[in-house]
Amino acid sequence: MAQSTSKLTPKKIEAIKKELLAVKEKLMMTTKDSDSFHIDRNELSDYLDEANVNIQVNQLHRFRNREIFYLKKINQALDRIERDEFGKCQDCDSDISFERLMARPTAELCIKCKEEAEINESSKIKRSSSIGKTIDDIGGASL
Ligand SMILES: [Zn+2]
Repeated sequence: MAQSTSKLTPKKIEAIKKELLAVKEKLMMTTKDSDSFHIDRNELSDYLDEANVNIQVNQLHRFRNREIFYLKKINQALDRIERDEFGKCQDCDSDISFERLMARPTAELCIKCKEEAEINESSKIKRSSSIGKTIDDIGGASL
């Protein structure tokens, strides 16, 4: 039976959901470390210079931001599966191809809208170099 490989079936969604849950579990393990660091921070500030603690927290945030950002994306993707909206472009409501979803299960936009968003994003960076770095950091983690 000839079937379009781009079509999402409940079975394919189930496979993606499993993958998302596995990645989520892994990320939860790593982000848990940053939570305990926040608790330690109050104790540490009694002994360490506050600025020094801040530097450590900032460094940790830089490492963790990507994970936390991705975790949010995964939760949103799982949400969309629950709401039966998974695989729909958040922008134009057209179907996101199964191949794209397999490569990026957290994709919220179809390839066309994603490309448009990326063009907008890069022109934003060019316009403002000061916030450009922040946007670039977020963009790098965007999936
Ligand atoms: Zn779209």
